[in-house]
Amino acid sequence: MTGHDESYERDGFATRQLHSGSARRGSSVNPRVTPIYMTAGFVLDDFDQATELFSTGDGYSYTRVCNPTNEAVERAVADLEGGAEALLVGSGQAALAVTLLGLLASGDHLVSASSLYEGTRGFLIDNLPRYGIDTAFVDDANDPLAWERVIQPNTRALFAESIPNPKNDILDIAAVASVAHAHGIPLIIDNTLATPYLLRPLEHGADIVIHSASKFLAGHGAALGGIVVDNGRFDSERSGALFPHLVERGRLGGPSFAERAGGSARISYLREVMALRFGPTPSPLNAFLIAQGIETLSLRVEKQSQNALGVARWLDDQSEVQSVDYSGLETNPFHELALRYLPDGQGAVFSFTLKGGLNAARAFVNALQTVTHMTHLGDVRSLILHPATTSHNLRTDDELEASGIWPGTLRLSIGIEDLADLIRDLDRGLAAVRATSDEAVMS
Ligand SMILES: *Cc1c(COP(=O)(O)O)cnc(C)c1O
Repeated sequence: MTGHDESYERDGFATRQLHSGSARRGSSVNPRVTPIYMTAGFVLDDFDQATELFSTGDGYSYTRVCNPTNEAVERAVADLEGGAEALLVGSGQAALAVTLLGLLASGDHLVSASSLYEGTRGFLIDNLPRYGIDTAFVDDANDPLAWERVIQPNTRALFAESIPNPKNDILDIAAVASVAHAHGIPLIIDNTLATPYLLRPLEHGADIVIHSASKFLAGHGAALGGIVVDNGRFDSERSGALFPHLVERGRLGGPSFAERAGGSARISYLREVMALRFGPTPSPLNAFLIAQGIETLSLRVEKQSQNALGVARWLDDQSEVQSVDYSGLETNPFHELALRYLPDGQGAVFSFTLKGGLNAARAFVNALQTVTHMTHLGDVRSLILHPATTSHNLRTDDELEASGIWPGTLRLSIGIEDLADLIRDLDRGLAAVRATSDEAVMS
């Protein structure tokens, strides 16, 4: 059934190969799982609906603007984070770029915690300055005065991660949010490592949350994605003068974002301008995979956190291990903050340092059989990486030391395997470390 008038001659092969498979219009199929709407665009009902759609933006036109599969993920994460609205994009890096370029303009200034994901750090140091946006970094992110000291009249946002890796240091979100709000600017939190199951930054005063959905949200390591969630509390009276693009009328004189979307002016701008013009749209297939992951988020993250605590405790008892940076350990300097912000588990990503330095790290990694050696995290499988020679290889030795990354430091992302099997594998690593140090003694 093609929807064409049957009284006409049958369509040709080329026409039929395009149209014969189309779903019947108006059919009411109600799939339980949101399907993969793998389509560039959507059929317009009729002439007048097209006019209406293009003037109000209400409805589906083109996947770069809106797609039902992508929207299912947006609704789920907005709800889980306790936000007003979300925007799904193609990767965590895209979420960061869309958010910062959508809020800040040339001549504006950003203040960020210095303990950051390397891709984010590089973007702030190397890329944003080319667009006239400079960043000041705060080393002691839990000291509100340290943020105050570097805020300038042109500072337009504060940025930090709720749990930066590899050290599992915990951010006092409420303290930093108070500083941001005293200046009428938003606090943006990368909540990738905590996930909304363990921590919801908007509940502690953050204004915008971003995620690499490629990590825990998807969980199975099969898809990339990124998401921005906004609390919907943009206050044009208080902050309008700082964000003229949100309160001024557009080129053709239509209502401003604040006039149309009120508190959701920021996220509306990200969707209608940043996603539309910069084009970071995810594939609906990836959105589908992320949606599948989200359905089991709490189960995975709960088990991963329990496993991580078990592994951290075990590593802490081993004589080859110098230190373990996991806020779930009672001896960790961030343990009190962890109990306050992460009472249900401290996440699955942390680092530990071997006494034997680089050679020990090499022997350890090469001996593992269950833990996968790769640059990724938040996967259902346990993963390991040597930051100093891989993800953090653009840092100087001084910068590495400042972030607590030593030649013997390894980062773990713990999965959902049986804890006993993980410990057996890590013990294999330590046996290899002992064998190398024995060789060194004998030679
Ligand atoms: C992985 C990651 C990113 C980047 O996300 P991609 O999906 O890989 O682009 C950003 N922030 C954090 C904390 C991450 O772990």
